[in-house]
Amino acid sequence: VWNNCLQVIKDNIPARSFATWFEPIKALRIEGDVLTIQVPSLFFYEWLEEHYVNLLRKTVKQQLGENARLEYNIVVEKSSNSNPYTTNIPSNGNGAAGSKQSIPVPVALNRDIKNPFVIPGLQKLQVNPQLNQNYTFDNFIEGDCNRLARSAGYAVAQKPGGTSFNPLMVYGGVGLGKTHLVQAIGNEIKKNFPDKLVIYVSCEKFCQQFVDSLKNRTINDFVNFYQVMDVIIMDDVHNFAGKEKTQDIFFHIFNHLHQSGKQVILTSDQPPKDLSGLVERLLSRFKWGLSADMQIPDLETRMAILQKKMYSDGIELPYEVVEYVANNIDNNVRELEGAMVSLLAQSTLNKKEIDLDLAKSMLKNFIKNSHKEISIEYIQKLVCDYFEVPVEMVKSKTRKREIVQARQISMYLAKSYTKTSLKSIGAFFGGRDHSTVIYACQTVVDLIETDKKFKSYVQDIQKKLKLS
Ligand code: ADP
Ligand code: MG
Repeated sequence: VWNNCLQVIKDNIPARSFATWFEPIKALRIEGDVLTIQVPSLFFYEWLEEHYVNLLRKTVKQQLGENARLEYNIVVEKSSNSNPYTTNIPSNGNGAAGSKQSIPVPVALNRDIKNPFVIPGLQKLQVNPQLNQNYTFDNFIEGDCNRLARSAGYAVAQKPGGTSFNPLMVYGGVGLGKTHLVQAIGNEIKKNFPDKLVIYVSCEKFCQQFVDSLKNRTINDFVNFYQVMDVIIMDDVHNFAGKEKTQDIFFHIFNHLHQSGKQVILTSDQPPKDLSGLVERLLSRFKWGLSADMQIPDLETRMAILQKKMYSDGIELPYEVVEYVANNIDNNVRELEGAMVSLLAQSTLNKKEIDLDLAKSMLKNFIKNSHKEISIEYIQKLVCDYFEVPVEMVKSKTRKREIVQARQISMYLAKSYTKTSLKSIGAFFGGRDHSTVIYACQTVVDLIETDKKFKSYVQDIQKKLKLS
C-alpha cells in the first residue's frame, strides 16, 4: 500500500523533494484503517505536515478508503540525559495538521548519527565549536557604544539558556565588533561549561550547508547536528534574505532549541524590525529576547582599541599617531585596524620610524584605495547567490520566473554600477541585444515602485554591492 502511495506522490512533486522527504520514510504496519509510517525525526514530521499534509492525506485515502488515518512514528534523538524514545503522533486524516498529542513509547535505541562534524565520544558528543580563540571578553574594549550588548553577552555566558536574553541579537554596522563579541561569548561559555555543545556558524555557511545537504540527501543529519547543540551562535543573519527554504529550516531548528531551553545568539546588520527579506515568523522569533546594538565607538574607545591591539602585538606607538589615526578613521573598527597594519608594514618596508608624518602619508593612500570598481561578473554572482539560482541559468534561454527576475536585476545593476554599455551587458547575459537590457531595466524600475518585496530584494543586493 505504501509503495502505491509513494508512486502517486512521486508523480506529484519534484524528484529532489521526493528523494529528500519521502525516500527516508519507512512503512511500519497497517492495522484496519490506520497506516503507520516511520520518519527519522520530529523535524521530519513537522516538515511533512507543513508541506505535504494534503498530498499525503489524499493519497492514503485513495489507497485505503475514506476512513483512512495516517500515524507517524518518530525516531527522536535526545542529546544527553533522557532516553531516546519513539513517539506516536496520531494524525486523524481530517482537521488541519492532525492532533499532536504525543504518546511516548520506549523502543530500541536509534543512535545512528552519520554526521561529519560530530565525533561520537564514549559517553557524550564532542563538537568543534568553530570558535576563534583570539576573540575574548578580555581583549574586547568596552565603551558606551557596546555596553548593553557586552553586558548582556556576558550574562548569557554565565547562564546560557537561563536568562531572558534568548535569543540574544547583537546588531550594528560592519566592522563594529559583532563577530568578536559573539565569539567571545562562545569562548566564555566553553570556559565555564566545557561539556556544553557550542557551535558558531555564519549564516552564509549555514545556507551553503543546507544546499549541500539537499544535494547529498543528508538533510536529516544536518538538522540533527544543529538540534543537539546547547548553544548556537549564528553570525550575520541578514544573509538569510531571500533564502526562504533555508529560513524555513532554521525556523524549525530555532523552535526546537528554544523550547528545550537552549541558547541562541545572533548577529545582524539591522535591528530585527528593519531586516528585509526575512519571513515574518522567523523575524517574530528574533524579537523575542533582547536586541542590543553596537554603535561606532567614540574617539576615546577607538584609541583604547588601537592601543590594546598594538600592545598585545608588542608594539608601542606614539600617542599622537594613535590619536591621529583614531581621529581620521571614524567609521569602523576593522578599518581602524587595517590602517594600523598598513602603517606597521610601511614602517618595516621603508625602515622608517612610525611617526605622525608617516601616518599622514599612509592614511591618504588608505582612503584612496578603499574605492574599487564593481565588475559585471561580481554583480551576477551576488545576484545569483542572493536568489539561490545557478549562474549558468541566468545566461541561458530559460524563462522561469525566478531566473528571469535574477537576470533582469543583474542587468539593471550592471547598468547602474558599471560603465559597461547596454550592448555589452546584453552580450554578457547570454547574447541578448540591447533592447532586452532596456526592457529589463524598465521592468525593474517599475517593480521597485509597485512591489514592496521586490524593492527590498533590490535594496539588499545594492547594500551588499556597496559593502564590497
Ligand atoms: P563585525 O562582525 O561587526 O563586522 P568584527 O567583530 O569582525 O566586526 O570586528 C572587526 C575588528 O575590530 C576585529 O578585529 C575586532 O577584534 C575588532 N574590534 C571591534 N570592536 C572591538 C572592541 N570593542 N574591542 C576590541 N576589538 C574590537
Ligand atoms: Mg562579523
